[in-house]
Amino acid sequence: MKNIKKSIDSSAPKLIEKLGYFINPILLNFKNERNQLLVFYFHGLFDSVKQRDLNHIDPQNNMTVTQFADFIEYFLNHKYKFIRPEDLLPGIGNEQPSAMITFDDGYFNNMLAFDIIAKYGIPAVFFITTKNIKENRSFWWDIIYKFRTKQGISLETIRNEQRYLKSFKYDYIDNYIIQNFGIEAFKPWSDIDRPFSESELKNLTNSPFVSIGNHTHNHAILTNYDKKEMAEELMESNKILFDLTGTLPIGVAYPNGNYNKVVLEATEEAGFKFAFNTKQKSNPLPIEHQNLICLNRFMTNTSKINKFGSFCRLGYEPDLLYAGLKKGILSSNSRK
Ligand SMILES: [Zn+2]
Repeated sequence: MKNIKKSIDSSAPKLIEKLGYFINPILLNFKNERNQLLVFYFHGLFDSVKQRDLNHIDPQNNMTVTQFADFIEYFLNHKYKFIRPEDLLPGIGNEQPSAMITFDDGYFNNMLAFDIIAKYGIPAVFFITTKNIKENRSFWWDIIYKFRTKQGISLETIRNEQRYLKSFKYDYIDNYIIQNFGIEAFKPWSDIDRPFSESELKNLTNSPFVSIGNHTHNHAILTNYDKKEMAEELMESNKILFDLTGTLPIGVAYPNGNYNKVVLEATEEAGFKFAFNTKQKSNPLPIEHQNLICLNRFMTNTSKINKFGSFCRLGYEPDLLYAGLKKGILSSNSRK
């Protein structure tokens, strides 16, 4: 009996997900997103599935450049307007549904996206972790992913190790990497996992489609730091980005999406007008001033991509929906 229950618990959310692939695109046709801003965030892009399978990088969104182009075409075909954060300042109305593209971390492979946004003439914001750019340093979660994958460790164990490290400050994480993999582990393996170089970033900002944003200096998960340290992380990164590009960043993406009241205060006090979290929700328009420093973003994951964040865009996730249904059935049974 226990085994049957266990197998229902594991297969039911997958079934809901599969049904969603057919039903969600239909439901989305009836959902009015005219007064909504949908912000999407990406990390690395792959030129092909073959490149992804080299395991030089934690695939995260799993996204190839073709899928990224499909993503843009989908929203253009559905009459969404791609906007930049500055467009929110006068308080845009609800005449057209809006979308925004953001990339986190500062991977060189984001150059693959650059050709596409230039081709379609749409804006994107690139949030840069400045220390990695300065030192041509691989990102710590990729180091864990690529070394552990090579050791034959399961994805579940890798995710647990990454999750464990996210509760620490950057100096602890740096030491952990050195202890476990050696100092050489910070060296990128290829163009797939390396960050932008300083000159590449500088060139990128010459494009009219590109805005540069702050992603802290050390990819600091800000809720692990005190207010003074938060300000240092934001200001150090701003200083480097200003020196490199001649422009102050327009906003910040909170690493790992983590924020609290103090983080929001530190962000405003540092002079930022916009900040982004990773709550899988759209933003109702027009956006009230206080919400500009806490904008929600969808992660575009290719396993959920038909059609692009559709589960969250409809306000549900398969596993949470199943858990909710189960709870509802159990409580109505106990009332009988
Ligand atoms: Zn990040």
